[in-house]
Amino acid sequence: MDLEKTLLRKVGQAIERFDMIRNGDRIAVGLSGGKDSVTLLEALCLLQKRAPIDFEVCAFTVEQGKFLAPIAPFGEYMKERGIEWLYVRDEPSIQLIEDQPDHGCDLCSRFRRRAVYEIAARMNANVIALGHTADDFCESLLRNAMYTGRLSALPAVTWSAKKDFRLIRPLVFVGEDITRAYSAGLGAPVIPCGCSQKTGTVRRSLRDIFAELEQDHPFLKENLLTAMGNIDHSRLLDTRYLADDAGGKSQPPSPSRSELFPVVMEL
Ligand code: SF4
Repeated sequence: MDLEKTLLRKVGQAIERFDMIRNGDRIAVGLSGGKDSVTLLEALCLLQKRAPIDFEVCAFTVEQGKFLAPIAPFGEYMKERGIEWLYVRDEPSIQLIEDQPDHGCDLCSRFRRRAVYEIAARMNANVIALGHTADDFCESLLRNAMYTGRLSALPAVTWSAKKDFRLIRPLVFVGEDITRAYSAGLGAPVIPCGCSQKTGTVRRSLRDIFAELEQDHPFLKENLLTAMGNIDHSRLLDTRYLADDAGGKSQPPSPSRSELFPVVMEL
């Protein structure tokens, strides 16, 4: 099936380019209940059978009190697929919603990260695979540049603070057009999250902007992904990366946004 071939090719490219998976790894896939993470899980299970190295795949879901439908059908699906899956209600997160119903994403993510590390340790995993897609990388790049004054997106590979876990994002080159179509073909239950239906967010605005621009420029996201791997330091303003005769200084670091634009309001 062409879609599957495309998916596996793109996931394979990411794994190879960033050395994401190594012999003997036990990978815990974070399943959010959505189309992206279930696509990631299937891709890794398929690659496991074909890869020249040995690695294991298991999965988990953190309940933070935001699912809009029962999770049970998901459990049935995982059982049918014969994949080890752990579903954990994270009581501190659920308490957070009760205490601070309007809490922001930062706090929620911090709670989730702690729960994810605990679950991965319980599952004896050394790698945690997250379902962020090419769309997420592109949105993150623009969001950080436009709203936080930093030129950065998401790490394709990184480590937990104590270096207990390698965190990988194998869908970095896979767009959501692919995850949407592929997950629909799997017949996997999709459990919507309340947050995905929020309107008026920066993320939603960026998605709308992309959708409009892509009508005339269908390769916009591919170009942004290529740009993230093809940085021309000499045409940016970070003096840490400029040549000495072009204003380069390894010390002190570049000025912060508030030093450059003291009147810009915090967003
Ligand atoms: S969108 Fe919702 S679930 Fe996601 S990090 Fe923000 S608050 Fe948490």
